[in-house]
Amino acid sequence: MFTSLSDRLAATFKNLRGKGRLSESDVNKTVRDIRMALLEADVALPVVKDFTHNIRERALGAEVSQALNPAQQIVKIVNEELIDILGQHTRPLRLAKTAPTVIMLAGLQGSGKTTLAGKLGKWFKDQGDTPLLVAADLQRPNAVTQLQVVGERAGVPVFAPEKGNVGGHDAVGPTGEGTRSYGDPVEVAEDGIQHAISKLYNVVIVDTAGRLAVDENLMQQAADIRDAIEPDEVLFVIDAMIGQAAVETAQAFQDGIDFTGVVLSKLDGDARGGAALSVAKITGRPIMFASTGEGVKDFEIFHPDRMASRILD
Ligand code: GDP
Repeated sequence: MFTSLSDRLAATFKNLRGKGRLSESDVNKTVRDIRMALLEADVALPVVKDFTHNIRERALGAEVSQALNPAQQIVKIVNEELIDILGQHTRPLRLAKTAPTVIMLAGLQGSGKTTLAGKLGKWFKDQGDTPLLVAADLQRPNAVTQLQVVGERAGVPVFAPEKGNVGGHDAVGPTGEGTRSYGDPVEVAEDGIQHAISKLYNVVIVDTAGRLAVDENLMQQAADIRDAIEPDEVLFVIDAMIGQAAVETAQAFQDGIDFTGVVLSKLDGDARGGAALSVAKITGRPIMFASTGEGVKDFEIFHPDRMASRILD
């Protein structure tokens, strides 16, 4: 994902290697190179500014001037500052004191929500939990069927609206565990939770509708679902390849639904991806998981330190 960023940073550090002492102009040049590398990777400007400011301050300070190996010290500083951008620590999922734990997924259409629902479901199942997926995306005619396919692949049951009039679109089916006919995603979500309670599922993952761009109706619908089901986590799923639009999108979702955590999807892509790296810093919400492919197992807990090492490798 970050090969060009990694390569650019590696080249910058290489220029410093073997220098016994760094002059102010060495530091300035290094900081300029790092800045360019981040901007080219699509990292958001305010994040780049902060980042390079901190690096410059620290690089001109005693920790570098007194270091035996100043170049190595700079790499260490960049590593620490990268970890800071990425959120420092992994925050584990908040689990409900009384089951079920409810996790709501939100994000733009195509961001990878439905795929993530399967991955999360499988992840819980592999840990011995009993997850249920709830199809509350009634916007896209195929979304319910798609979640059913995903659920089947993951071996996780799906609570879905009954075949019939769904959101004014064509009929959907086949029927999952749901038995009624719905037009209202809030109702589906609520009934899904009730179903989980009565059947003793201990984790409920609620897939919600996305649009191609942020719109008010979508946000209101997501907010209504959130208010109705009071999830333990609202995870905002963002396609790491969406470039600079990541920041604006994340801010819109933060204003609209005040999500509790971020999932970066499509981290396996070869696009620049830096914008997604800005999301934690810009929204103050932790990146909790990364999706790294279309398969149900292409999913990992996000570790800021490991990601920083990967970028600096
Ligand atoms: P949704 O509209 O947000 O539910 O998005 P989907 O889950 O339907 O995903 C949209 C497309 O992206 C599908 O073709 C998925 O197979 C693909 N996709 C989802 N997550 C990933 C990922 O981590 N990596 C890659 N390469 N593709 C992904």
